[in-house]
Amino acid sequence: AKAQGKGTVCFFSPELTRRAKHRLMLDAELRAALEGNELLLYYQPQIDLVNGRIVGLESLVRWQHPERGIVPPGEFIPLAEESGLVVRLGDWVLREACRQIKQWSEAGLTPRQTAVNVSAVQLSRGRLIDSVKAALSETGIRPEQLELEITESCVLTDRDQSFKALADLRALGVRLSIDDFGTGYCSLSYLQQLEVHKLKVDISFVRGMTTNNGKASIVRAIIALGHSLGLEVIAEGVEDEDQVHYLRSLKCDVIQGYLIGRPMPADEMTRFLASFDPP
Ligand code: C2E
Ligand code: CA
Ligand code: CA
Ligand code: CA
Repeated sequence: AKAQGKGTVCFFSPELTRRAKHRLMLDAELRAALEGNELLLYYQPQIDLVNGRIVGLESLVRWQHPERGIVPPGEFIPLAEESGLVVRLGDWVLREACRQIKQWSEAGLTPRQTAVNVSAVQLSRGRLIDSVKAALSETGIRPEQLELEITESCVLTDRDQSFKALADLRALGVRLSIDDFGTGYCSLSYLQQLEVHKLKVDISFVRGMTTNNGKASIVRAIIALGHSLGLEVIAEGVEDEDQVHYLRSLKCDVIQGYLIGRPMPADEMTRFLASFDPP
């Protein structure tokens, strides 16, 4: 319900109805897309700042819509989280990523690990550990080849359940990283208890850090914090050489961003991996 000034609440404004209809339609379409193979994964490279090699990839889901073309995840993941469909969608993403890792592995191309984004809903409601085990055993890849990216805020929605799920996943041998670090509400003691392997500095700090002192300080602090806890630190959204120089001066471990490569379909990534020459 939308408040319209004092005392009046309008439940059926045309705008709300339009939006509700749109959501219902999108939800139904997304269910069909999941059945009908309209989802696909793009992959983006991550490179080691010391030796310039590709050390990891991040998988990013796309919806190949028959009429609308490629739909970015920002337009359907939040909806899928609300409806709970993200659990099944997430299972598909895990399977597909592991299948692709297996294929690259057999071709001798696979980087150390490939990351998959995990939603808060999967962590607190889905049987994520079962899905991960299934995807690993179906494909036969090593657990260390798979990395799960979780967001800080997600760990707080159902803390005990999420902590337990993460501890189990860690015991299984998969790698864990905290996505969008610095934007959520992860207290430092949580961070220590979580025992993740990696921190991802959020794109919003990386963007503008070479011109904005405040952002530069935050990036410096996050890298120092990560290192003092023994974690690897990766900066996302790196678009220019100035950012690379600054991140290198701070001893940031890994970078990801358009400067190195945009997210691309698997076949394009195969060519990218095969032809990539570290500087
Ligand atoms: P994220 O995990 O923080 O992913 C990083 C986003 O930044 C991606 O957007 C990526 O394409 C974009 N990006 C990478 N490098 C650069 C750069 O240099 N500059 C700029 N401006 N942007 C860059 P994308 O692919 O649209 O994904 C958006 C969000 O959707 C992701 O944010 C993630 O939260 C979510 N998402 C993507 N795939 C999945 C998935 O399989 N499952 C779940 N649950 N969420 C996903
Ligand atoms: Ca991510
Ligand atoms: Ca991120
Ligand atoms: Ca994000």
